[in-house]
Amino acid sequence: MEKEDCIFCKIISKEIPTDLLYEDDQVIVFKDINPLAPVHLLLVPKKHIRSINDLEDADKTVVVDLIMAAKEMAAKMSVDKSGYRLFFNVEKGGGQEVFHLHLHLIGGWE
Ligand code: AMP
Ligand code: ZN
Repeated sequence: MEKEDCIFCKIISKEIPTDLLYEDDQVIVFKDINPLAPVHLLLVPKKHIRSINDLEDADKTVVVDLIMAAKEMAAKMSVDKSGYRLFFNVEKGGGQEVFHLHLHLIGGWE
């Protein structure tokens, strides 16, 4: 999929509205439209990278930025103490449906 057709690129460029929770120069965080848990966030690098398979050495900071943003957002959403899951779906067989790298954060169960 080309960047031009990418729904997450359109969210980043504000062409598509979303429930935006955090944004800086590298990362954007918004609520998943179809939540799997009481708290379900997507942490998305602004750089269009298809999946984990497409990461290059120069993208190492992207991965760190996503994980650090997840840590901050878990605290902000008050699921840090109760616990949460972080995961990447990789390609179709791994459940990936949007081919712009993103880290899922789910939690908030009773
Ligand atoms: P994945 O299956 O890992 O590619 O995850 C893609 C996720 O993006 C799914 O959980 C969808 O519910 C979510 N999603 C798709 N479109 C939107 C959107 N416009 N706003 C928020 N989340 C979305
Ligand atoms: Zn994209």
